Order: sequence, then C-alpha cells, then structure tokens
Amino acid sequence: MLHESILSAYKVLEGAELDRETAAALLRLKGPDLLDLISLANKVRLRFAAEPHLCSIVNAKSGACPEDCRYCAQSLANDAPSEVFPLVSEETILAAAGAARENGALCFCIVTSGRGYPEENFEFRRILAAADAVRARYPDLNLGASLGNLSGATARALADHGVTFYNHNLQVNPARYGDLVATTHGAAERMETIRHLKACSVRVCSGGIFGLGESAEDRLELALALKALDVDVVPLNVLIPIPGTPLQDQDAVTMPEVAKALALFRLVLPRKVIKFAAGRETRCRDFQGLLLLSGPNGFLTGGYLTTRGRPVAEDRSLLHELGEFDAR
Ligand code: SF4
Repeated sequence: MLHESILSAYKVLEGAELDRETAAALLRLKGPDLLDLISLANKVRLRFAAEPHLCSIVNAKSGACPEDCRYCAQSLANDAPSEVFPLVSEETILAAAGAARENGALCFCIVTSGRGYPEENFEFRRILAAADAVRARYPDLNLGASLGNLSGATARALADHGVTFYNHNLQVNPARYGDLVATTHGAAERMETIRHLKACSVRVCSGGIFGLGESAEDRLELALALKALDVDVVPLNVLIPIPGTPLQDQDAVTMPEVAKALALFRLVLPRKVIKFAAGRETRCRDFQGLLLLSGPNGFLTGGYLTTRGRPVAEDRSLLHELGEFDAR
C-alpha cells in the first residue's frame, strides 16, 4: 500500500503540479516508503525528461577569488589549497571543447573564479572571443559559461556571442544564503543575474548543494525558488568537504536523504533537466546507480572545478548499464 503522500504525488505523472503540502509530507518519508518515492520520481523522469544530458566544463581561471563562499577551495577567505592560474588561452579552451565533444558531452561550459566582470573588462572580452572560436569550430556543441554575477549588458554580450546556457547556482534556500556566503554577495544578486539571463533567452543552469547542514525543508524551499525563477537545468551536488574550508568537518548527508532530495526535485520540476553533479563519485560511491534512478536525467562528467570526477567513458558505461538511459 502506497503512503498517502505518494498517492497524492502521483498526480505529477498526469501533468499536475506538486503542491507544497504534499511536498512537505514527502519530506517525512523513510524506510520502504522512500523506495516508492524513488520509483515515482523515476517514472516522472521517464515521462517528462527521458533524454539524457551529459556536460563538461573547463576550469578557465582558478583560485584567488575575493568572494567568501564557505564551501569553496578557491576563496581567498578560506585556508584550502587550490590551484591558482589566470585566464587560460583560447587554444586551451578550444582543446577542452574538442575533448568534451569527442567524449559525447552535449554541453561545454567555460568556468572562471571570481565575482563577475564589467562589460569592458579585458578578460571578459577575451572570453567572448574564445566563445566565438568554440562556436566556429564546434557549431553543434551547446556553449555555456559560468563567470559570476552578470549585468543586463554582460548577459546580452554573452548571448550575442553564442553562449546558450549559463551556470549560476542558488546553492541553498535563498533565505539561508547568508549562512553560506557571509558578506561578499547575496541571494538577491544571484537571482537578478538569473533574470538578466532569462531576459536574453539564455538557458539558466542553477541548482544547489546538499549536505551543507540544511534541513529537508530548506531543500524544498530551494526547489520552489528555482521553479519560481523558471530555470532550465538544475545541477545538484553533494558537498565534498574540503580541508581548509569552514565546512571541512560538516557531517555527511546520508544517501537516503540525497535520494529523497533528488526525487523531490524531480517531482517539483518534472520537465527540467536535473543534473547530478559533484559528490556523485566520491560521496555517493556504490549508491550512484540508485541515485541516478531517483530523478536526475543528466550529469556533469569528466571532473569538477577543484575535485576530480570519473572518466567520461566510465560514466557512459554506467548510463548504458542503467538501461533506461540511452547515452548518446
Ligand atoms: S564559489 Fe565561485 S564565487 Fe564563490 S569563492 Fe568559489 S570561485 Fe569564488
């Protein structure tokens, strides 16, 4: 017999929205009911978001970041060792794009550390030139960027240079953003950047991190905030506590909690691309297959910014073995 809240959530399969009351009840599920929830999330994925998405990134500028994000090795405010290098050359970006395409990634994202760029900034102009070069050489690759906060003008410039998606994570329940980034920027600025991107028809990739010490209700608030912003792609990460950051001793989130959160995001955002990103390999280990059946329809593959991932070929093989995903 299915739990009452799951029976109520089945309406998502018929195209209805998950109401807040049902979502809140789902947060309290445990034990065998959790497997029923996972099963429903998987059915919703197959009905509304069956197409698999693989994307890759290039870390185009690393470290020495003035922002004080508590989880990040690249922040100058933290005492974590991280690679520091200035913006890489256009050739390096082109080579990374070629490798991503070769490996079957559909999207390729240029990522730089930092708060963001003014429109006339020299580095920003170099990134725009690199975007032109990637588009010219690999016209079938979806080109993305993640460069920090944007103004209306910088969002427009990226769109004009063929950037079709932009990563800008909300990370947490917006009401709790100040717990994660103490002083240098706030959730309101991040949401404003997302609105600038939407105004330029750039697809927005925005998600969050599980395991920061947030509650299940915080995860629901994040999912609802992303829904309200109508983001297109939702990358979900599990915290990898990095020595030297304030979150280095953070208790690990349990795998049932991660499964429940992934399923909840699928039910709140049934038609969106949900990507399982950092922490998948190192924190979730043997649970990866189960978690991929809890609602995500894509993942970041081939490594992250400051931590290693798995080779793309291994990820493709995992997708293949999961059967219902037909990795392309
Ligand atoms: S998450 Fe981005 S903005 Fe924050 S410290 Fe790291 S590189 Fe800087």
